[in-house]
Amino acid sequence: MAYVIGEACVDVMDRSCVDDCPIDCIYTGERKLYIHPEECIDCGACARSCPVDAITWDRDLDPASPDSTHLADATAFFYQPLPGRSSPLREPGGAADLGPVGTDTALVAAIPRQEAE
Ligand code: SF4
Ligand code: SF4
Repeated sequence: MAYVIGEACVDVMDRSCVDDCPIDCIYTGERKLYIHPEECIDCGACARSCPVDAITWDRDLDPASPDSTHLADATAFFYQPLPGRSSPLREPGGAADLGPVGTDTALVAAIPRQEAE
């Protein structure tokens, strides 16, 4: 079980959740952040701090919602090679030490950018 970051984070990335995660398991892509499904301890602190309600406990996800696709996508972020990398990230053991990954999954990269108002 883990919390999952959905589409509302894309192009927002204010990182409030990162500051509140006690085990540093929220990793930064290019346009979205990703919670490590194996490192997350289900404390819920990140969900309470997100200003756009992008974070959901996986048990509460509606299987029909677009955000449900981001659960499998978070696993893909860590366990499949990302563009520009020859091997998966797997369990990096901390987002601060790893630093920004700088790339996204194909699912997130394909989401149209929001036009600035
Ligand atoms: S639920 Fe807790 S451990 Fe999991 S990502 Fe959020 S703040 Fe970190
Ligand atoms: S707090 Fe919400 S919008 Fe901000 S980076 Fe985290 S998931 Fe994304």
